[in-house]
Amino acid sequence: MTDQSAFETLDFATRAVRAGIERTQFGEHAEPIFLTSSFVFDNAAQAAARFAGDEQGFVYSRFSNPTLSVFQDRLASLEGAEACVGTASGMSAILSTVLALTRSGEHIVSSSGVFGATAQLFNMFARYGVETSYVALTDPAAWEAAIRPGTRMFYLETPSNPLTEVADLAAISAIARRNGVVLVVDNCFSTPALQRPLEQGADVVVHSATKFIDGQGRVLGGAVLASRKLVEDALMPVLRTAGPSLSPFNAWVLLKGLETLSIRMQRQCASALEVARWLEAHPAVSRVHYPGLESHPQHLLAMRQQSAGGAIVSFEVRAGSASAERDAAWAVVDGCEMLSITANLGDAKTTITHPSSTTHHRIGPEARAAAGIRESLLRVAIGLEAPADICTDLARGLGRAPSR
Ligand SMILES: *Cc1c(COP(=O)(O)O)cnc(C)c1O
Repeated sequence: MTDQSAFETLDFATRAVRAGIERTQFGEHAEPIFLTSSFVFDNAAQAAARFAGDEQGFVYSRFSNPTLSVFQDRLASLEGAEACVGTASGMSAILSTVLALTRSGEHIVSSSGVFGATAQLFNMFARYGVETSYVALTDPAAWEAAIRPGTRMFYLETPSNPLTEVADLAAISAIARRNGVVLVVDNCFSTPALQRPLEQGADVVVHSATKFIDGQGRVLGGAVLASRKLVEDALMPVLRTAGPSLSPFNAWVLLKGLETLSIRMQRQCASALEVARWLEAHPAVSRVHYPGLESHPQHLLAMRQQSAGGAIVSFEVRAGSASAERDAAWAVVDGCEMLSITANLGDAKTTITHPSSTTHHRIGPEARAAAGIRESLLRVAIGLEAPADICTDLARGLGRAPSR
């Protein structure tokens, strides 16, 4: 099957391992890695036709490569998108999207609960005349109220990092549509295995493929998915010129990651729910943030919008006073012996991080307070270990929390 449209009727799990494949004349079974920077032409006329875009075919790996194409076609199939472009990292996917969609004098409305570097990137764009307003992810009326004449783009993550707040995609996309604004959703936490924002009204999906799409913490990568028109007219000119390109080797690692994505997500979500329930019952924990728990303020919305709660669980450690919160949280991190102290997530290995001193350090105390990120907050990204072993290790950490 090399006709990509033939894949559309197949199940997600099947497309995850087969969509996008184009065999070479050697009949290889696994997808080949084309580590080549450029492609040769039969003659000068063909070179000219390829450069002009009059003839289909590969030219130069800054913007076209067969391994990259397999990754892009497979991810597009999984997200239900017409087109996809791979990028070197999640941040370069977001950068390319902002460059493609906005110009000086225009305006972005972003959720205040976004990845730390994403907010930093938006703030950097103020230098180039693109301003960003931040609103609460969970309050659609605030999104509408923040619109002004130059508003071009809405940007959000759902569930958000690190508090796992959930956006009402139907409500926010309806506001975007009414006002001629493009809705961009960072689908990193859910992946298309749990949630497909384009089917729920979003115009653009961005990914940090570094996380669950790789799934084993090996390479950086990213992607932008949208209509063919938006990709061809707005994104490709940016990618081709600015060069935030995904290496063919990394594209290969990521497309292999897609093959196990849904089975990993099923297992990691089931374990996350088990760990979240266990944490909720622990006396040293004051609050657990996990969309799969009935106690999550948007549990019902989350369960309508995504097929499981995700693999990220955040929780607040009990502390005697506000000034003791950081010490209490750090004691838990340092008391765990198995969990990896690293900011990456989506790995097979469970990781633990203290957002306010790591991923969300650079946004500063005021923005953290506005986003509700306390010093007592820890984020755990559940991997593929047995959930009982993850709880045993967390119990060791929580046993060190000074105030009980
Ligand atoms: C990690 C992350 C990014 C940035 O991706 P990189 O691949 O590290 O550049 C963007 N959004 C979210 C939600 C992330 O977790």
